[in-house]
Amino acid sequence: LFTRSAIVFSTGMKKINIAVDGFSSCGKSTIAKGLAKELGYTYIDSGAMYRAVALFAYRNGWMTDTTIDEAALQKHISEIVISFETAPTGQQETYLNGENVEREIRSLEIGNGASRVSTLGFVRKELVRQQQAMGKKKGVVMDGRDIGTVVFPDAELKIFLTASPEVRARRRFEELQAKGTPVSYEETLANVIERDERDTTRSESPLRKAPDAIELDNSNVTITEQLQWAMDMFNKITTQHE
Ligand code: C5P
Repeated sequence: LFTRSAIVFSTGMKKINIAVDGFSSCGKSTIAKGLAKELGYTYIDSGAMYRAVALFAYRNGWMTDTTIDEAALQKHISEIVISFETAPTGQQETYLNGENVEREIRSLEIGNGASRVSTLGFVRKELVRQQQAMGKKKGVVMDGRDIGTVVFPDAELKIFLTASPEVRARRRFEELQAKGTPVSYEETLANVIERDERDTTRSESPLRKAPDAIELDNSNVTITEQLQWAMDMFNKITTQHE
């Protein structure tokens, strides 16, 4: 009887937060969505939030491909409400002030804009605040660059993903091609390298592996193997935490 109740307790509903960080186009969202689905957790794409801020800035004319009107963006930052909704396809979609912007935020231009606005302290502060609120009740899998270091430094499971720039550019290129975005592989690779550089060298929350994160180089790992690995890590950690 004792053993049985112990098992029931250990598979009980104590939820944790899971942080997935890494370079761009590393497959963070694939592993994070897979974990969320498997565990019945909420998946949150923090990168989509930076993309939504960039779109907001572009639309209002506060940002061009080379400039940002920081003062104007800062003045209006609290007007940005970002939310997520699940489409009938099961796909999670990003909303900016109630408007579905999922398609628009996925362009290379907005990706670049996101990387640029993400260097601004006041942007990070506001988004981190929103992200921490989303994780308050636990049961969240969030992917990004600073989740294990800044957003959820207490996350029970932290995964840090890496893959070579060429492998990542190939994946991103195929994704963009499938969407009909006219772009070359060379352009995509240059973009991946440029974003890596900016993400790791910025002074505000640069991309870093948290000391307690578990690293996986998935250059030669299948999606199934990767999810299995992550589930093994989850099981190991939740058993330890009981
Ligand atoms: O992950 P994704 O490519 O959608 O993120 C877009 C950009 O937002 C990244 O290049 C990165 O600079 C920034 N970002 C960030 N912190 C996060 C998530 C994304 O700085 N937590």
